[in-house]
Amino acid sequence: MHPLPHGAGRYAPSPSGPLHLGNLRTALIAWALATQSQRNFVIRVEDLDRVRPGAAATQLADLAALGITWNPPVMYQTERTDAYAAALAELRERNLVYECYCSRKEIQAASRAPHGAPGAYPGTCRNLDATQRATRRAALAAQGRRPALRLRAQVSSWTIWETICGVPAKAAGREFRGTVDDIVLRRGDGVIAYNLAVVIDDAAQQVDQVTRGDDLLTSAPRQSYLAALLNLPTPSYAHVPLVVNAAGARLAKRDGAVTLAELRACGWHLSDVISWCATSLGLPSVRTAAAFAECCTVAALRTAGGPHIFNAPAP
Ligand code: GLU
Repeated sequence: MHPLPHGAGRYAPSPSGPLHLGNLRTALIAWALATQSQRNFVIRVEDLDRVRPGAAATQLADLAALGITWNPPVMYQTERTDAYAAALAELRERNLVYECYCSRKEIQAASRAPHGAPGAYPGTCRNLDATQRATRRAALAAQGRRPALRLRAQVSSWTIWETICGVPAKAAGREFRGTVDDIVLRRGDGVIAYNLAVVIDDAAQQVDQVTRGDDLLTSAPRQSYLAALLNLPTPSYAHVPLVVNAAGARLAKRDGAVTLAELRACGWHLSDVISWCATSLGLPSVRTAAAFAECCTVAALRTAGGPHIFNAPAP
């Protein structure tokens, strides 16, 4: 690996429990794409919410057991409060932030309206005047709640470089264009929103290649736009297929043995795990992370299809 500073790939798990096979496969792919392109590889623990004590340590140990290596230090989002506050202050200064008083229910109902992009925030609180804001703030306070903060987006869509899911563009790259709405920057409970944290942290870790599950594809234009607003470099993206259960839902504990520890208890070796990750993507049955990194190319990932079903053995 190269000493920083240098572009980096990354894996950014949420420590809500042990990684399952789908998470492990995504981490292997991210590591493969970073090392193939002579990038560093960094880890970020996204521990702003949904934290299970001890989960981060188990996740890191599982990644290391598979043979994934990374440049220290591991970043923990709970240690990044000052950086988030500074970015938020800058956006506020530029009048790019407003308070949002909507409940989750109101947003869901409004974003299903016939106009506007599905799931996008329709801007209900964007243009309230001072009196309306004061009334709504007081109503929220009476319920013991505080407003969220949203970005006053200046565009409604944004184009990203997307290596896997994008369509071939003029230059060598591939593009994906997606909706940008007024994303939450700070939640009503005071926690910095994932979409803001991820942008600040990727830049701080010199990440210029974001590889992650394709459930986050539609978040990428929002994040890339926010990076551009903050004058941060915008990474290129590689959104990769998910691993699901036989019913097509994301893997969970009730599906059987899905974590490294559970699979090992069922007699799987680490090499079996890597082999499953490779063959599920249509790659040769390699049995080490290094061999996986040699064959898991962008070209192979483009033809891998997905999502891919894992029939978990009974624990
Ligand atoms: N922490 C997120 C997750 O585990 C991933 C975020 C990202 O890769 O941008 O789902």
